[in-house]
Amino acid sequence: MIISEITAQRVLNPTSIDLGEFVINPYKGCEFNCVYCYARFTKSVINDPRRWGEYVDARINSPELLEKELLKKKPVRVLLGSTTECFQPAERQYRLTGRILDMLNRNGIYYSILTRSPLIQEYTSVLAQGLCERIYFTVNNYGNDVKRLLEPASPAVYRRLEVILHLQDNGIPVTGYYSPVLPYIFNAREALSELKDIKNIEFEGLNFNLGNIQEVIKSVGSFFPGLCDTYALMRKDLRVYNQVWEEIKSSITEAAREAGRETSIFVHGLDAYFQNKYR
Ligand code: SF4
Repeated sequence: MIISEITAQRVLNPTSIDLGEFVINPYKGCEFNCVYCYARFTKSVINDPRRWGEYVDARINSPELLEKELLKKKPVRVLLGSTTECFQPAERQYRLTGRILDMLNRNGIYYSILTRSPLIQEYTSVLAQGLCERIYFTVNNYGNDVKRLLEPASPAVYRRLEVILHLQDNGIPVTGYYSPVLPYIFNAREALSELKDIKNIEFEGLNFNLGNIQEVIKSVGSFFPGLCDTYALMRKDLRVYNQVWEEIKSSITEAAREAGRETSIFVHGLDAYFQNKYR
């Protein structure tokens, strides 16, 4: 892993994600190296000759720059972690996210966070100050073999579950975000049973529009060979695509009803690159 220090030109970037007017990403690159990561296909990453998952650039002036930008842009709500993991191991060294959270708290700015890192637990007292609107904590369990291929360096799922419960117990709004749901591997009853102690759960289907969906399919296919053809057919045939997701939605609705839970799944349109809606 090559970690570099760089100087950012801007910290608050406008976004169409419905969790804030701006996104903040104190790092470029991510040590967790998920194959299905949509950040791999952002312009700045595509134009970067380095391989995703092998570098992290720490934008070391982010906190100072943010202080200035807050005065000019006056945001009300922001989102942290749209194209990187804000609590990846490099954060232990740089503490950029921690300083940014302190600044948002001091300035009365609401924030949401996308994460899958147990390191966030170290910021519990900061997150409990009332400005954190919600943490969407990715947790999924498609088995260790598939995980090794799809998320080779991400934290263990059991640790993520522990930290979600810790945040929940400390009164911090947190949603267990099960993503990606993989057709024909995902089991709604098992998922809901595993997440039974988490009050808020949402699901997101695998995005078949990803630039490297073939690589994702290949990884899944190395354990479930029959699925290569099935996924390929879903990509080609909108009717099949919609039918598969309708079945998955029904299985979640049914399992949730049996468990006395409320939940929802976001399914990407076959031609929509990234349009997540969060509750
Ligand atoms: S943790 Fe998030 S940002 Fe990092 S590689 Fe995985 S999906 Fe991408």
